[in-house]
Amino acid sequence: MAPNDSIVVINAGSSSIKFSLFSGAALALTFKGKIENLYSGVTRFSAQDAQGQSIGERSWPAAPLDHEAGMRFLIDFAQTHLEGHRVVAVGHRIVHGGVAYSGPQRLDAKVLAALEKLIPLAPLHLPHNLAPVRAVMAMAPDVPQMGCFDTAFHIGQPAEAQAFALPARITEQGVRRYGFHGLSYEYIASRLPEADPALAHAKVVAAHLGNGASMCAMAAGRSVASSMGFTAVDGLPMGTRCGALDPGVVLYLIDELGMDVGAVQKLLYQESGLLGVSGISSDMRTLEQSDDPRARAAIALMVYRIGRELGSLAAALGGLDALVFSGGIGENSVALRAAVCRDAAWLGVELDVEANAANPRGVARISAAGSRVPVWVVPANEELMIARHTLSLLEKA
Ligand code: ADP
Repeated sequence: MAPNDSIVVINAGSSSIKFSLFSGAALALTFKGKIENLYSGVTRFSAQDAQGQSIGERSWPAAPLDHEAGMRFLIDFAQTHLEGHRVVAVGHRIVHGGVAYSGPQRLDAKVLAALEKLIPLAPLHLPHNLAPVRAVMAMAPDVPQMGCFDTAFHIGQPAEAQAFALPARITEQGVRRYGFHGLSYEYIASRLPEADPALAHAKVVAAHLGNGASMCAMAAGRSVASSMGFTAVDGLPMGTRCGALDPGVVLYLIDELGMDVGAVQKLLYQESGLLGVSGISSDMRTLEQSDDPRARAAIALMVYRIGRELGSLAAALGGLDALVFSGGIGENSVALRAAVCRDAAWLGVELDVEANAANPRGVARISAAGSRVPVWVVPANEELMIARHTLSLLEKA
C-alpha cells in the first residue's frame, strides 16, 4: 500500500449506510460518514475528517432516499473528496456467512450467488449488505471487494455452544446458533493484548452494547459462546429488540392473540427492548435522563439480563479473567457500567469509581487496583477490523 492507496469500508444496514476511508499501510482513517433514515423520516448525511471536523452535511426533507440513491450520493461524495487518494479495494460488513464462510472472503459473482442463498437466514439485513457490493461491481468492476462476516468469529465455538436441542433434521437445515457482532469482538480480542499482554491467554467476557447488544465469551482471543443465536434478536434486551424469549411466547402470540408473522416480527424487532419496556425511547441517553419509573425499569431489566448472561458466559469459560465494555452504551454509560459491575461483585469484579466516572476515551482499565477481575473499556471499531481484513486479503491475492 502506497501512502495514498486507500480502502473503503461500507457498513450497510436496513436504514443506514456507514462508510470510512482508510489510507496507507497503517490504515489511517482519512474520512468517514453516514447516511441515516433511509426510507422513512428525513434522510440525513454527515461526514467528518480524521480529526472529527465536519466535511459534509445534507438532508432530504422532501422525500427519504432508498439504498440505491443513498449509495449513489455516497459514491459521488467520496469521489469528490478523495484528494489524491486511490481506492484499491472495498471491504463490506456482511451480517451472515452461514457455515461456509469462516473468514473474510473476496467477493465475486459466485460468492455473491452463494450469499444470496443465505438471505432467509438474515432477511432484514443481508439484502442491504449485498446491494452495495453489486452497485460497486457495476460501477468499478476492477476494484477488488472483500466481505467480512459478523458470524465468522464464532464459527469455531464448541458444538454444544452452537446447537439447539432440536431434531437433527432441523439442525441440518442450518437452524443453529451462529452469533453476531463478530467483527467487534475480533477487534476487541486484537486490542486487549496490547493493553495487557496477560490478556492474550485470558478468559474474557465482552459486552457490545449499542442499539444492537450482545455478549461474547472468549478464551485466548477465540469465541467460545455468545448471547446471540440463530438471529440477532436473541440474548440481551436491546434498543428495540426483545432478546431471549421463551419460544412459547411466539406460539401464544400467534395462536391466542391472532398475530401473523409480520406482526410478531415487528413486535420482537422494532417494538420491544428498551423502547417496549419503557414506552418512552430506545435510546439509553434519553432513558437515563428521564425520571419516569418505566425508564428506570427498562434500564434495570437490561442490567439484570447482562448480569445473568455474564454468569452464563463465565460458566461456558470455566472462569472469568476480564470483563470488557464496548458499543455506544458500553463506552459511554457510567451508570450502566457501575450497575453491571456492582451485580458482578460475586465474580471478583470491583470498579474504580473515579476511573469509571472519568468515562475514558480509548482503551482503558476502569477496575480497582485490587479487583480480581479487571474491567476494560474498548471502543468498538468494526470498520478498522474490516479494513485490516481487506488489506490482508489484498496482499495475499
Ligand atoms: P449502533 O448499534 O447503532 O452502532 P451505538 O453503538 O452507537 O449504536 O450505540 C447507541 C446507544 O448508545 C444508544 O442507546 C445511545 O443512547 C447510547 N449512548 C451513546 N452515548 C451515550 C451516553 N453518553 N450515555 C449513555 N448512553 C449513550
